[in-house]
Amino acid sequence: MSLHDRYGLTRVINAAGTFTPLGVSRSARHTADTVAASLSEFFVIDELQDRASEALARATGAEAGTITHCAASAITLAVAASMTGASPERIAALPDTSGMPDRVVIPAGHTVNYGHPILQDIRLAGATAVIAGAETGCDIADIEKALADKRTACLLLVSSRLTRGAPLDFVAAVAAAQRRGLPAIIDGAAQDLRVGELLATGADLVMLSGQKYLASPTAGLVVGRAAMVAAVRAQDKGIGRGMKATKEAIFGVLAALEERDRLDLPAWRRAQADKVTRFIERVGRLSGLRATVASDPTGLPFPRVRLAVDPAQAGMDAAALAQALRAGTPSVWVMPQELDRGNLILELVPLSEPELTEILGRLAAVLAPAAAAR
Ligand SMILES: *Cc1c(COP(=O)(O)O)cnc(C)c1O
Repeated sequence: MSLHDRYGLTRVINAAGTFTPLGVSRSARHTADTVAASLSEFFVIDELQDRASEALARATGAEAGTITHCAASAITLAVAASMTGASPERIAALPDTSGMPDRVVIPAGHTVNYGHPILQDIRLAGATAVIAGAETGCDIADIEKALADKRTACLLLVSSRLTRGAPLDFVAAVAAAQRRGLPAIIDGAAQDLRVGELLATGADLVMLSGQKYLASPTAGLVVGRAAMVAAVRAQDKGIGRGMKATKEAIFGVLAALEERDRLDLPAWRRAQADKVTRFIERVGRLSGLRATVASDPTGLPFPRVRLAVDPAQAGMDAAALAQALRAGTPSVWVMPQELDRGNLILELVPLSEPELTEILGRLAAVLAPAAAAR
């Protein structure tokens, strides 16, 4: 009996990407087996975190790494680390930041909302966000101006398709912070496939979500300079208590890193591109839809499907089509970011062939009667 049947849960086809409200990703068998084996054993967790640090360093080229509950907690703890350093007194005092630098500079277009506002991750550590530049863009002069305040603790940048405004020169921004002796930290939650590029900016820490494309259980990965990673780990005795990684999450990350190491990335990329091409060919026969390839705006190495909806032919607009797909059985979820421009975006990465066929069947079932009635 499936878990859906056992607990009375809606069956979902997730074409919405690494989406937290749908359970994010599908772990490989090796990862699931490793997690299951860990649950009935005891371990010295400090030792386990040391092994994770070594594995993260090998996988990313960073000096060190650690695992937190998730990327949101990794952001809060990286901000905390930049305020406390290794000081046990400061770590114990948070979120009271009296006597500490407590301002976090973040470009205006990087104040993303990924289900909640990232500004709340900053506040949760006791810090205050200082917004640099404008929504339309933030240049290095804006960053320099904000960093000049003596109370600055760090610079926080975000690498995500959710950021707004003109692209920022990350290398120059990181250098601007480090010239002042301030750490630069990057939220690259869904960007584990680009972690090398993010570390190459010179950032002190990069924070990632293990449960996104790496497909581990929920876990925040923090990689970067050893002293900063140690200061993040030290928060376990402070505000990090409620944000700790579980043993099963740490084992899941270790196993998922092994899976990633075995992955033939060029072959995987070709398979993703082929999957999208085949899906687009098959959509071609449905009236009211025009399917094209959508590349990822941040440079993730796989394409998505863009379905442009012609309301005159389809009998409904993009938002209504997305709603109808979600209301059906199985419930099909798509990415909403271009709905107001009349497009559905579908991410196919975790989906099986039978699921792709089901999506096409649902599209045909929703569109045919609507088109006939128009
Ligand atoms: C998903 C995401 C997060 C949060 O990650 P969690 O691991 O779910 O806490 C933070 N920032 C960005 C840009 C994200 O996409």
